[in-house]
Amino acid sequence: MIDKILKAARVVGEAAQIHDLPGGTIESPNVERVITTDVEAFEELVRLVEDYFNPGRAPGSLCQFCQAPLVWIKTGNNSRAPLDAAHVSGLDDTGRHHRIRLSHFATCPRPPRRKPRP
Ligand SMILES: [Zn+2]
Repeated sequence: MIDKILKAARVVGEAAQIHDLPGGTIESPNVERVITTDVEAFEELVRLVEDYFNPGRAPGSLCQFCQAPLVWIKTGNNSRAPLDAAHVSGLDDTGRHHRIRLSHFATCPRPPRRKPRP
């Protein structure tokens, strides 16, 4: 993975161009240095780095209300439901260890406001 990130960073670096843009005022001129590069190569680099630090996180798998990482499952009636990406682990009353994911509907600290039922 690091090899892919370094290769993508090299592509971004090779496409980079430095532009000195004149600015400021006559009394106080200055030059703003701007670096441009290949946008698609830059987006690929960002995607690889994000995937490296958050493996398996597909785009759009953050809660839109609290930005928590989510995992989506299909429910019995074939709709999708968000679960917390982080596991909760513990022992049951027989001493068996379990790792589960909680429904994000139950854990979201900033759930959307629902309209009151009539
Ligand atoms: Zn949330």
